[in-house]
Amino acid sequence: MNKEKQCICQDTQRHFLFRAFDSLGLEDAHRELLLASFRETRFSIPVILRRDGRDVLRTFQGFRVQHNHARGPFKGGLRYHPEVNQGEVRALAQLMTWKTALIDIPFGGAKGGITIDPAELDKTELEVLTKRFIQKMEPLLGVHQDIPAPDMGTNAQVMAWILEEYSKSHGYTPGIVTGKPVELGGSRGREEATGFGIACITRKVISGMSLPLDEARIVIQGFGNVGSHAALALARMGGRIIALSDVHGAIHSAAGIDVEAARAHQAETGRLQGLPGVDALSNEEMLELPCHILIPAALEAVINCDNAGAIQARVIVEAANMPVTHQADEELRQRNIVVVPDILANAGGVLASYYEWVQNLQEFPWEHESVLRRLEQHLLRVYGEVSHHAGENETDLRTAAYELAIGRVNKAIQLRGF
Ligand code: GLU
Repeated sequence: MNKEKQCICQDTQRHFLFRAFDSLGLEDAHRELLLASFRETRFSIPVILRRDGRDVLRTFQGFRVQHNHARGPFKGGLRYHPEVNQGEVRALAQLMTWKTALIDIPFGGAKGGITIDPAELDKTELEVLTKRFIQKMEPLLGVHQDIPAPDMGTNAQVMAWILEEYSKSHGYTPGIVTGKPVELGGSRGREEATGFGIACITRKVISGMSLPLDEARIVIQGFGNVGSHAALALARMGGRIIALSDVHGAIHSAAGIDVEAARAHQAETGRLQGLPGVDALSNEEMLELPCHILIPAALEAVINCDNAGAIQARVIVEAANMPVTHQADEELRQRNIVVVPDILANAGGVLASYYEWVQNLQEFPWEHESVLRRLEQHLLRVYGEVSHHAGENETDLRTAAYELAIGRVNKAIQLRGF
């Protein structure tokens, strides 16, 4: 994330929070406490890489921000991305605190990451880097202390290395990390959980608008783990996905895209464009297509002052973290476009992480179907609470979600004392 975008995200986060702080009537001292990170740690991670037949020493920067643990152990992903920095990680750690509180699971919020493009490293180098990062972070971690998970640029394999490194000094401890491979105590359904949750919430939101899913035109930006699983789940539920995109560009078909074929094509060629029977367009053009539902599932701040006026969707479901800036959010609100906020929409990931942690503590794995059924019920219940609160207080879904979440964290802090 460049500096400008980083500022936009931090401003956006502050703006959303302050709107809720104001309506909750929180005093400045309590606001300060809620905003402060519990601990922010920065690590240097030296690794020797073999480049052009020579050993090259590179020192990477790693971060772990533990924002709040009033309601339970710190919880949140590790991101490997070239634009990771302390400010971004801090904002994302806070977001985790509100997310876990909103869905009412016994966790706090954290986030971490390494400033790196993981595509630059081969698998062995990535393993060395990850294990060295965990060696340094190990004193902060614990099954009842801080539990990492996947995020952008990390996956189940990276989680398996974390498990291995931590277990060297603590014995086999699967509950130390979530999003692991199923073979190592990962939960069935964790991989698709975020995308599946997006699909369940989308279906619910539009049912309240008397728009049957099979009549809705859906656009999804981003075809990574979240976007692709959201697309697959929505297609299985009968939705028509008219446009999809990845970093190379977007594809469009008014008749609907065969999502399975798009996945196969991407796996084979490394990109979506070139799939037979679809038109190519840019990512920017795609966001402005006439559609009913727009699902940004890629980066932060993609819907901003420059394009908010051109968005033609009736509903935006925030699959990515912070994809809509606060100025754009205001404009969308004035145009009566419903925005389902990230802390609600993409909470299926951390919810399945919670299920995984519970299964690890109980040493009792659940069936795939039962994970997804529980997840859907839980998310729809939370959606019901948020929309009820929004209706009662004549506010939007985001403010309602923040009010509920902040209220719970604040209450836990007051009960525990300082
Ligand atoms: N990285 C995901 C998120 O932003 C999941 C975090 C977790 O499972 O702990 O919600």
